[in-house]
Amino acid sequence: MRITLVYPPVAIPTSAPLGIAALKGFVEKNSNINVKCVDINLSYYENVLDKFINKEFDIGKGEKSRQLVKKAKDIFKKGGKDFYDPKVYNPCANEFFHLVEKVSEINNNSLFEFIYGQNDNVRNSLFRYLEKIGKPDAVGFSILTAEQIPHSIAMAKLIKEELKVPVIFGGGAVRVSPELFLDKFSQYIDYVVKGDGEYALLRLLRGIKEGNLKDINNLIYRKNNKIESNDEIITEKLDFLPAPDYSDFELDNYFCPKKVISVLTSRGCYWRKCAFCSDCDAVSMNYRIRSVRNLMEEIKLLKTKYKTDYFYFADEMIAPSRFKAISEGLIQNNIGLNYYTQAMPIKEFDNELLKTMYKSGCRAIMWGVESGSQRVLDLINKNTNVTDIQNVLRQSNSAGIKNAVYAFGGFPTETEEEYKQTLQFLQRNMAYIDVQFTGLFRLTKNSEIYKNPAKFSITNIIENKSVNPFVPIYSYETKEGITQQKSVELYDENLSFFLGLNKFSPFLGKFRDHMLIVFND
Ligand code: SF4
Repeated sequence: MRITLVYPPVAIPTSAPLGIAALKGFVEKNSNINVKCVDINLSYYENVLDKFINKEFDIGKGEKSRQLVKKAKDIFKKGGKDFYDPKVYNPCANEFFHLVEKVSEINNNSLFEFIYGQNDNVRNSLFRYLEKIGKPDAVGFSILTAEQIPHSIAMAKLIKEELKVPVIFGGGAVRVSPELFLDKFSQYIDYVVKGDGEYALLRLLRGIKEGNLKDINNLIYRKNNKIESNDEIITEKLDFLPAPDYSDFELDNYFCPKKVISVLTSRGCYWRKCAFCSDCDAVSMNYRIRSVRNLMEEIKLLKTKYKTDYFYFADEMIAPSRFKAISEGLIQNNIGLNYYTQAMPIKEFDNELLKTMYKSGCRAIMWGVESGSQRVLDLINKNTNVTDIQNVLRQSNSAGIKNAVYAFGGFPTETEEEYKQTLQFLQRNMAYIDVQFTGLFRLTKNSEIYKNPAKFSITNIIENKSVNPFVPIYSYETKEGITQQKSVELYDENLSFFLGLNKFSPFLGKFRDHMLIVFND
C-alpha cells in the first residue's frame, strides 16, 4: 500500500514540515506501507513567485516590487552578505510577505468558489500538484494552520474527482472543530484524525482494507450518514517513536540559507491554563516528555543524516527544569548545534540556567510575555510576574541569547492605563528585546474566555461569518476596559514604536527560522 502525505499551502516555507516527516518515520518503521511526503506549500511559493517575477500576473505595484521579490527569493535561498544586511533584507522580506498575502487573499475566495461549485482557473492551477502526489492508495493532509484549510479542501475535491482514493485530514488546525470537516465536506474528506496521528494513521491504513474503523482511537469518520468520533488517546511513550524522516524533502530548496530541522522534545503543554488559549482542553495537550538520552540520539542522527547544525525545538513550551536537563545533555554529549525555541518567562530561568542554555547552543527564545500589567497577567492566568519577566529578559540577553517577545493589547477588561503599562514595559526593556511579535488580542473558540465570557466582563460574543467556516472571527462587547475598536486604534497609533523594537527586521517574527540564522552567524 502507498500513501502520499501532503503539506498544503499556505504556510511559511523556510523549513520542511515536521508533522508528515514524523508520520513517515513511524508508519514505514512499523509496516510495509510506503509513505511519500510532498511539500505542496513549497511548490506553491515557487510557482507564485516565479509567475510574479516573470510578469505573468501583477498586483499593481510595479517593477520595483518584482525586483525586490526576485532578490528576496535569491537571498532567502542562498544567503550571502545581503541576507545579513537589514537594509536589504527588510524591504525584500516585506515585498515577499505582502505578495503572498495579497495572492492568498485573492485565492481564498476563488478556492471556495471551486469547493462549493466550479472555478476552472483554480482547478487548472491545482492540477499541476497531482503529478507530485502520484498515484497512491490514499492521500493524507497535515494542516497546521487555518491558512492551509482552503487549499486542503480544494485539493481534496480534486483528488476525489481525479484519483478517487480515500482522503484523510489531520494536524493542529483540525483540532478546533474536527467533526465540522466531515459535516461540511464529507464528499471530499473521508477521515479526520484528531490529536496524535501516528497510531491512528497506521491503524486506519490497515483498517481501510479490513473495513474495521470503530476501534481506531482518534479517528472521526462517517457511517450510515452519521459522524462517528472515536475516543481520543495520546501517545504516552514518546521514546518509542522513531526520528522524523525528512528524506523526501528537497531540504536545500527552502527559503532559508541554512537547513533548519524541527524536533519535539515533548508534546502538549505543562501549563494548560492561559485564558486565551484555545488548546487547553485538547486531549493531545496532555504533557509528555522524551528522555534526554532518546532526544540526544535523535539529534545526533538528524545532524549527521541531513548535515546541519540548525534546529528548532518546536514544543509548545519547555519548562526550565527540562531545559536544564536538555542543555546539560547537549553539552555532555558534545553535540554542537544552534537552536531556537519558545518558553514562559518565569524566574526559574535564572542566570546560571540561561548561560548553560547558551553554551548548549540556544541562540533565541520566543517568550510569551503577553502584557506589562500584572492585573492582566493574573487574569490571563499566565503564572508570570512583571518583575521576573524583566529579569529573565535581561539575564537571557547577558547570557548571549536573543529575545523574541510576544505581547498584545486589548485583553478583555484591560484599561488604557494598563495598555500603557505594556508600552512602558517594552520601552524599559527595549535594549534586551531583539524581535517583537506585538499584536492584538483575539478571541478564539474553546478558550476559557470563550467558554466563560462573564468572568472577563464580556457581555456579548458575535460570530462574524467568514468565507472559511473553520476560522470564525469573533467580535465582542465588554462592560469594562477598552473596546475592541479602541484597542485597534491604540495598536495603529503605536505601530511604529512596536516595529522599532526589532533590532534586525520585524519580519523575523514571520520568518522565524531566519531569526536563528541571522542571530547566530
Ligand atoms: S498559551 Fe501556550 S503556555 Fe499557555 S496554555 Fe496554551 S500552550 Fe500552554
